[in-house]
Amino acid sequence: MIPFNLLAPQHQNLRAELLAATARVIDSGWFVLGPEVSAFEAAFAASCGCGYGVGVASGTDAIQLGLTALGVKAGDEVLTVAHTAVPTISAIYAAGAHPVLIDVNATSMTMDPGRIEERITARTRAIVPVHLYGHPCDMDPILAIARLHNFVVLEDAAQAHGARYKGRQVGMLGDACAWSFYPTKNLGALGDAGMVTTNDGAVADRLRQLRFYGQTKRYIHEIPGTNSRLDEMQAAYLSVKLPYLAKWNAARLGLARVYGRELADLSGLTLPTASEGIEHAFHLYVLQVSGRDAFQRALLDGGIGTLIHYPIPVHKQAAYPELRDQGRFLPVTERLADRIISLPLYPELPESDVLTVARTIARVLC
Ligand SMILES: *Cc1c(COP(=O)(O)O)cnc(C)c1O
Repeated sequence: MIPFNLLAPQHQNLRAELLAATARVIDSGWFVLGPEVSAFEAAFAASCGCGYGVGVASGTDAIQLGLTALGVKAGDEVLTVAHTAVPTISAIYAAGAHPVLIDVNATSMTMDPGRIEERITARTRAIVPVHLYGHPCDMDPILAIARLHNFVVLEDAAQAHGARYKGRQVGMLGDACAWSFYPTKNLGALGDAGMVTTNDGAVADRLRQLRFYGQTKRYIHEIPGTNSRLDEMQAAYLSVKLPYLAKWNAARLGLARVYGRELADLSGLTLPTASEGIEHAFHLYVLQVSGRDAFQRALLDGGIGTLIHYPIPVHKQAAYPELRDQGRFLPVTERLADRIISLPLYPELPESDVLTVARTIARVLC
């Protein structure tokens, strides 16, 4: 059996470094928002070309608090995609705003800039482009629309650590960027963690208040806040891992190229591509195929674990009946949901397993 993902090998390799970090934090006696958090915030922000990083409890909180820090208020409309992880949407609601769903490009599977203008209203305030699967959105036209209409832009880079767009790091392209360090992401903690990066010092200040009860200093509360702090243990683990991110992403890219080479001649498959000028972080390797459910079952019978990201677009989820009507704007999103399938991919995945997966796919297709 070739599993979809395995987290154990990476942690086995880093076991000694992670245990040393654990001991360091225990011995320090400082467990929340301390020197480990500050050090990781500075290192991660620098790694994506940003002046400021503010650690929070999760990627979901990073989106919610990021929007609030950028001035999004109750009743505002936020343009984003339905072809994403549901937390993108739940975070927009948590910020008090209303999600307006833009269709995606069938090739990049990210926000289609040509479909934005038709969804703008007098209440539109922000755009949340999602760099899904590690493929950066086509940011230049998105940023041009935002500038024209005076919208703020919060990137959702939960799946795109280390990706680049036209030579620029994901994370420094909009007004701020939300990150998740959920364990399965390209850079994952040993628990939940998130961050907002920005080059705007005022936005960073507001985020530091929002994540810590709205305090400007102890017992002084100038804005309503919440508790969304990053803890020292997770920050220490992330500092251990950050230096390996480029190597892990290179391994992902190398394995994606092997898939690309081995699957290129099979008919009936649409392979993921990187648009021109883009460095794909290959969080996921996502094929498109018709008869996807039968294809997935046949792969499972052949010993290959796969997942669907995501089988039900957010506007069809029972939690959000008010989004259902927006389906008429989302034909590509709805078609993709029936066609996509994510193949096994993680940095330590042996190349021989990739070849086995490709051979199994060839057998299933003929
Ligand atoms: C994982 C993810 C999130 C949420 O991050 P959490 O840390 O799990 O809260 C948001 N958006 C996208 C695209 C994600 O993949």
